[in-house]
Amino acid sequence: MTFLLHRSTENTPPVAVKGEGIYLYDSKGKQYIDACGGAAVSCLGHGHPEVLEALHRQLDKVAYAHTGFFTSEAAEELAETLIDDAPQGLSHVYLVSGGSEAVEAALKMARQYFIERSEPQRRHIITRRQSYHGNTLGALSAGGNEWRRAQFAPLLIQTHHISPCYAYRFQNSTESAEEYAYRAAQELETKILELGRDQVMAFIAEPVVGATSGAVAAEKGYFKRIREICDQYGVLLILDEVMCGMGRTGTLYACEQDGVVPDLLTIAKGLGGGYQPIGAVLLSKELYDAFANGSGFFQHGHTYMAHPMAAAAAVAVQNVLKRDQLVPYVASMESYFKRKIHESFANSSYVGDIRGRGFFLGIELVEDKVTKQTFDPSLNLHTRIKQEALKNGLMVYPMGGTVDGKRGHHVLLAPPFTLKQSDINEVVERLAYSVSCVFS
Ligand code: PMP
Repeated sequence: MTFLLHRSTENTPPVAVKGEGIYLYDSKGKQYIDACGGAAVSCLGHGHPEVLEALHRQLDKVAYAHTGFFTSEAAEELAETLIDDAPQGLSHVYLVSGGSEAVEAALKMARQYFIERSEPQRRHIITRRQSYHGNTLGALSAGGNEWRRAQFAPLLIQTHHISPCYAYRFQNSTESAEEYAYRAAQELETKILELGRDQVMAFIAEPVVGATSGAVAAEKGYFKRIREICDQYGVLLILDEVMCGMGRTGTLYACEQDGVVPDLLTIAKGLGGGYQPIGAVLLSKELYDAFANGSGFFQHGHTYMAHPMAAAAAVAVQNVLKRDQLVPYVASMESYFKRKIHESFANSSYVGDIRGRGFFLGIELVEDKVTKQTFDPSLNLHTRIKQEALKNGLMVYPMGGTVDGKRGHHVLLAPPFTLKQSDINEVVERLAYSVSCVFS
């Protein structure tokens, strides 16, 4: 018997029966190190006693109260915490139940904003090729991942694509990283002018690209230039930190490291650490008011938004992260983690790039280290590495994504922030062994 969601190319997955710290256990008693937090979700690991206690307490108080009638202490506390720590100017928060819902809400907020400003013609969205912003039809429309989009075309929103800021590491040219970043950002201006300077509603991007490309941060200066262009043409900047946010890259928000503040910031995964489904949009008062004054605030709602159980879990997760200083810890361990990966893969002929920030690291597998020629996607190396790693008691997140425009293969590591130095050694050792088994 196979759970409906699992693709038929994979074997029937093991049954998870217990989670404790960085480990998951299946029904046969096998232990796995969770080195990807599922999908960059479990930032605190599994079964954290303080989160469980907070959930029990909330369950005893009230499990559910519809936001059409009530708010809850947990939702209010979470909103306050998020606003206190938000990038400057993002003074309001809208709580939903996951990443796609957060992106959907952000898109509608942007639309509502321009309707309120009597600029309804601004309805075009610009996104980057290969990007992923969620799987609901609206969020999928705002993405640029062709193989995900193709079978559902035509999609819902008029989306236009520019190049991602990835390829610098893969090109052999004399151009500096800054020059490359500037050139990549300029594509936004070109596209805006092509569509009409008052026609574009928003540009959406992940500061550090997760699922589709394996922890690729934009080159320095890219997002600063993007912010300038958005400001110049009155285009809203939506940064999607569903995967890379909430401390994963070593700062609470990845965009802090790029020195930019978006107009709308979407978060999810690490917000609730997997203990409950939750997501949020952070936004300015101006955007919030436009949403509230327009019909959007009342017409855009979800039954489970600001759910008290989800909010209670998120408050507990965020409190533990702060008290235990886990985000600075992640930042401090980045170089050790990367060094271990470099050492372990130093002699391999198939590792073309090791990259990322904090506990959000990617390893690119290439056929030729010099030309960075990617492997034939039909080899399905990602699936084979995932299966081999599972066999060796390790969960990693390999994808057949792409960095250089062609589909390649990478492995994403996004472990709990509680991973100790000795655990890092173990993760890297098991991964190197698993990858070598696939290539032998
Ligand atoms: N945006 C990004 C950047 C994501 O990585 C994801 C999920 N991988 C989503 C949105 C969608 O989130 P969810 O799966 O919670 O709907």
